[in-house]
Amino acid sequence: MAMTASAEQAVLDSVPTKLFIGGEWRDATGGGTLSVEDPATGRTLIEVADGQAQDAMAALGAAADKQSQWSEHPPRERGEILRRAWELINERVDDLALLMTMEMGKSLAESRAEIAYAGEFFRWFSEEAVRIHGRYMVNATGKGRVLTMRQPVGPCVFVTPWNFPMAMGTRKIGPAIAAGCTIVIKPAKQTPLSMLALAQILQEAGLPGGVLNVLTAKSSGSVIEPLIKDARTRKLSFTGSTEVGRTLMQQASEQILRVSMELGGNAPFLVFGDADIDAAVEGAMLAKMRNVGEACTAANRFHVHESVVDAFTDKLTERMGALKVGRGTEEDTDVGPLIDDDQRSKVGELVDDAVQRGARVVTGGHAVPGAGYFYEPTVLAEVPSDARLLREEIFGPVAPVSTFSTDEQAIDAANRTEFGLVAYMYTENLRRGLRVAERLESGMVGLNQGMVSNAAAPFGGVKQSGFGREGGFEGIDEYLETKYVAVDL
Ligand code: NAP
Repeated sequence: MAMTASAEQAVLDSVPTKLFIGGEWRDATGGGTLSVEDPATGRTLIEVADGQAQDAMAALGAAADKQSQWSEHPPRERGEILRRAWELINERVDDLALLMTMEMGKSLAESRAEIAYAGEFFRWFSEEAVRIHGRYMVNATGKGRVLTMRQPVGPCVFVTPWNFPMAMGTRKIGPAIAAGCTIVIKPAKQTPLSMLALAQILQEAGLPGGVLNVLTAKSSGSVIEPLIKDARTRKLSFTGSTEVGRTLMQQASEQILRVSMELGGNAPFLVFGDADIDAAVEGAMLAKMRNVGEACTAANRFHVHESVVDAFTDKLTERMGALKVGRGTEEDTDVGPLIDDDQRSKVGELVDDAVQRGARVVTGGHAVPGAGYFYEPTVLAEVPSDARLLREEIFGPVAPVSTFSTDEQAIDAANRTEFGLVAYMYTENLRRGLRVAERLESGMVGLNQGMVSNAAAPFGGVKQSGFGREGGFEGIDEYLETKYVAVDL
């Protein structure tokens, strides 16, 4: 059943469209706006404020002014604000999902899943806020004492992508609030609405003005660079492409800013000869098709043992071919549109390149004609090792399959990338599983599991997928400094 136009309009009417600075909603300097588009239709949904460099400075000013007071706010209360926000997110999941689907395109079921996942970071860090501790230790000589204290790093600047419009924010905002840091966050211009709705929820949950400031802007570079170079900023956390991450790291080097980088991926998905093939196909669907393939954790390439490649490819093709492509707001849609025309063209280009080099299209392989940026769920077999899509992030519903004969070949193929976010593997042999997991050059491994995302686990990459961890016990460390006091008794 489709969501009615009036339900869509009601959700749009309820979302704030201004900048959120110092606890107030204000217009951008000059009053300009940016259009948010529905990728399923190409139509403009709504206009939001187009923040300028002066607005960025005002947001940082609000965050910096609030920092010392917020760091002294009782940890229990910081946690309770997060907890209340988690409850409000769950109460409003249907409206938030509709809003997210309208701006980002994914199906309502996917949006609900993201919102539940996003909320879990508030729940998890509401529990961590009261567990920040240092140590007191007799030093080696027996005379002095080592005292350590954990203190908030200070005002943070966050930049997040469009693919998970809420969760990429809560993974940073949750631990920062718990640790006692203030924040300026800039969501991607394609999907600012979920972040604006989240700010409204945090305000209702009792977050004092100035702790969280939200900046929407057409020109991200011109609002972010001055923030990164301003000495009041003490931490930058970025989720997005490796290319932009590299630029921001260069800018951050000017004042030796503390930085966390959650960047691009190129996840291998290994299926060994002893794998449970049905389970591997189930995991493959999740790893590949979650978020229409537009996830940093998306399985980018399938390396399958030659003895099971036919069985695996046949079953995967059957599942991919049965997916219903359509507007995400239709309840029976499995696969929504890609985010924009550029992204769809890139996916098409990568598929064409693979086919020209000898890959065989088993299902899909084309853009869907008509309005919106839809692309058919696609399986490619016999993909040669020089195909671009084995090296580049596809970010679309395309599963390239190639084969291996030995474990060494599988490990070599998996590691043949400058990225290192996540790798997946299916085997019924636990010894093989752990032996291979140790050799995989990635921050995370899904062992017989097609999804690793979990608020209780440390999410993050190695190599050019970045550094720093979000979630788990590690997540709050990104927002704390350790101060050591040498004590002479
Ligand atoms: P992107 O182009 O790097 O953009 C990410 C964010 O950076 C957006 O808010 C964007 O703003 C902003 N931005 C772009 N250029 C900037 C500049 N010069 N200065 C300051 N900010 C700038 O990435 P995307 O296309 O949105 O997202 C897809 C990428 O994110 C993929 O590579 C994916 O793998 C990665 N990702 C990684 C993770 C992870 O946890 N490792 C999670 C999700 C996504 P505007 O768009 O408004 O210009």
